Amino acid sequence: MIQSRNPARWSEVVAEFPEAGPSEVEAAVSAAREAWPSWRKTPAPRRAEVLHRAADRIAAEKEDLARLMTREMGKVLLEARGDVQEAVDMLLFIAGEGRRLYGETTPSELPDKFAMTVRDPVGVCACITPWNFPVAIPSWKIAPALVAGNTVVFKPAEDAPAVGQRFADILCGCGLPPGVLNVVHGGASTGAALVRHPGVDLVSFTGSTEVGREVAIACADQFKRVSLEMGGKNAIIVMDDADLALAVDGAVWGAFGTAGQRCTASSRLIVHRRVYEEFANRLVERARALRLGDGLEESTDVGPLVNAAQLERVHSYREIGKREGARVACGGEPAREPPLDAGWFYRPTVFLDVEPGMRIAQEEIFGPTTCVIPADDLEEAIEIANGVPYGLSSALYTRDVGRAFRALRDLRTGIVYVNSPTIGAEVHLPFGGTRRTGNGHREGAHVLDAFTEWKTLYVDYSGRLQRAQIDQ
Ligand code: NAD
Repeated sequence: MIQSRNPARWSEVVAEFPEAGPSEVEAAVSAAREAWPSWRKTPAPRRAEVLHRAADRIAAEKEDLARLMTREMGKVLLEARGDVQEAVDMLLFIAGEGRRLYGETTPSELPDKFAMTVRDPVGVCACITPWNFPVAIPSWKIAPALVAGNTVVFKPAEDAPAVGQRFADILCGCGLPPGVLNVVHGGASTGAALVRHPGVDLVSFTGSTEVGREVAIACADQFKRVSLEMGGKNAIIVMDDADLALAVDGAVWGAFGTAGQRCTASSRLIVHRRVYEEFANRLVERARALRLGDGLEESTDVGPLVNAAQLERVHSYREIGKREGARVACGGEPAREPPLDAGWFYRPTVFLDVEPGMRIAQEEIFGPTTCVIPADDLEEAIEIANGVPYGLSSALYTRDVGRAFRALRDLRTGIVYVNSPTIGAEVHLPFGGTRRTGNGHREGAHVLDAFTEWKTLYVDYSGRLQRAQIDQ
């Protein structure tokens, strides 16, 4: 069994699920394979109706789902509600695609011949997700997979199985035929068994870059389609002409929202030297004032980290940063006073005097920590922002339209914001990143490119053999 526990009060067991071994993975993949031929032929608008109904049900159960999410993985209730809302938005957006699975028609080079394209489903999709957006991210994958006519085996993260199961139960309860959506629970070994199963045609993975690499290698071995959404080391650039109050608001939300456990977290703040000190002072004051606590309490600003290993990992960066010469201006330690000592709480941490090459400025820490890096001008700031292995999200605070457009052109991330932080994606725009963040796919808009194959169709009604490129 795997146990899901409340990271704010570790003694509280939220749920238990059986860990899927090879035989359960086999059963799930077989069920998905069996269900595929009929689901594939179900008209897409009918498939979409299931998503529409699920959106309504999830909207009606938003508060329950959000509370379960907060208990299971710790994010504050306000954000948990947002996570559920994102799934509602995604289901509605993708349901619309059920009547919009457009292909193309184009003239043939030969007379009496018709040429067109259609999107074809790929087959059985394995959807493997992390715990930090435990309803939103599954919806990013499962909804487009289903509307396109694929069947799914979903493996939620082992740190958020209950809320993942609830999401799947709702979808199944809204009219999915048996076998179209299947759930297996477990961690790395369950995920690896699923990825390697020869009955899986496509893997859609969101998680760390390290695991993403393993998934990609396993898929390459079997020529499977694979879409990867991985880590980030996102930067906000603050120029000397920026509205500093706005920039500090953005930095606090971007760095400490979800206790920094977002792939798009603002974990680097690159600040023009002219405003560095003032920005740093205001930021540190705000970080110190953030209230740690159980995410179910409305007064809480920052919830716990997801588990003990994550707390340890985040804390290890304090020494790493100090050794390299950074200054810990606030935080840098777990909260040890009751009732916080019952869970995995870490104080919001700001590193100052950070150099771009330091490990704290290069590696994804995934906790409530951020580093403030000085820069002389926009060009240097952009170079620093681009100087990491990841390429998910970036942001710029400025009042100068020329600077804004230079940054929009030169920042090498999948997403760029002006005058808002690195978080806040909307479902109907492309979501994903460059370099070690992704492998070229996008979720949200264009997600169907990941979950379908283009099929090219020629119909010759001339009644004679016509040879392309030969018969002019
Ligand atoms: P993780 O990589 O540890 O796990 C992700 C999922 O993969 C889990 O379901 C896990 O059980 C499974 N898994 C683990 N080992 C596996 C293996 N060998 N084969 C197949 N599956 C395996 O990540 P996490 O700690 O759950 O999530 C945090 C990470 O996710 C961060 O790096 C974060 O940046 C990233 N993330 C990225 C995005 C994005 O869209 N780019 C969004 C959210 C989170």
